[in-house]
Amino acid sequence: MFEDTHDGHILLTPGPTPIHPRAQRALMRPMLGHMDPEVFALNGEIQQGLRMMYGTEPEAFTALLAGTGSLGMEAGFANLVEAGDEVLVCANGSFGRRMAEMAARYGARVRLVTAPLGEAIDPADVAAHLGGVGMVAVVHGETSTGVLNPVPEIARLVRRSGALLTVDAVTTAGMEPFHMAEWGVDYAYTGAQKCLSAPPGLAPVAIGERAFARYQARRTPTPLWYCDFGGLRDYWVEHTYHHTVPVNLHFALHAALQAALEEGLEARQARVRLLGHAVVTALTPLGFTHYVKDPAARLPTVLALRLPPGFDDAAVRAALRAREISVTGGLGPTAGLIWRLGLMGEAARPAPYRALMLALEDLLG
Ligand code: PLP
Repeated sequence: MFEDTHDGHILLTPGPTPIHPRAQRALMRPMLGHMDPEVFALNGEIQQGLRMMYGTEPEAFTALLAGTGSLGMEAGFANLVEAGDEVLVCANGSFGRRMAEMAARYGARVRLVTAPLGEAIDPADVAAHLGGVGMVAVVHGETSTGVLNPVPEIARLVRRSGALLTVDAVTTAGMEPFHMAEWGVDYAYTGAQKCLSAPPGLAPVAIGERAFARYQARRTPTPLWYCDFGGLRDYWVEHTYHHTVPVNLHFALHAALQAALEEGLEARQARVRLLGHAVVTALTPLGFTHYVKDPAARLPTVLALRLPPGFDDAAVRAALRAREISVTGGLGPTAGLIWRLGLMGEAARPAPYRALMLALEDLLG
């Protein structure tokens, strides 16, 4: 039986992150209708906040999808790919591979550019495979390995080729400046529960002009009715009914987004770097080392740390969990080899990491 005894639980995982107190309070607001003018006004502020978060053109189309980050991913392929299209997917971890699988399910002929685990995609490999490609897809921060892919460099190449660029910004947007217009990104998405510290259940997306034009030029209707770009526009721009949006989640995301923008994306970026440095410095004497060797390829928001030799991963994490501290291990081939410590949103605060350090000293000391 579920017991509500988890007030003090410390989440240091790569998502969900601890809910922002303002988002928590916003969840308590009384319900409004999804077609009420107050909700359209709130949505307008969310759209404007997302333009700032993603660094879009001033009038770019932004919206929330009623689902998690994976729905943001799926909506991109559903709207921008048709059977037989050549799609190049950068796959250097689980989420890149998820992109490839989704693209294939929407009929794409998928080409893969890969890199060894723990290494970033080499833009030269992307350049070598761009011929005839209609879309390139890349994960900015590959959560499964803690790798930051060089999106600005990849974007420059893709823009020159004329292909569209879809970027998974799940572990980056909202915590680091993201320059969609300047870099030349056509479609980007994240999940509310990551860098914004809002509850899971919404995928904030930004759809650039070129992406929308590609959608309008489709030969066949978007197979995913729920996230059809035109249907989203009906609701978010024309204010006509498409489906019932989760209004209370909009309240919470609005509050979390405003808090992030008030703090400032540069300040958030600095907060992550400062804390990340302090955490690594504190864990180094215990034998933890960086999993990603190239400092330029380290994702600041998800620290991937190689465990000390002989470290009993499962036992230590279970002991931490008993003290209400959650940390996450590796995924697939890195299980038992690394920890992935989340520094997104409200996880990137000194107090929870101090609690982790104290607990580890006690357990390992
Ligand atoms: N992309 C990346 C980089 C992620 O880290 C995640 C989740 O961890 C996803 C996509 C999928 O998001 P969700 O689990 O919210 O569907």
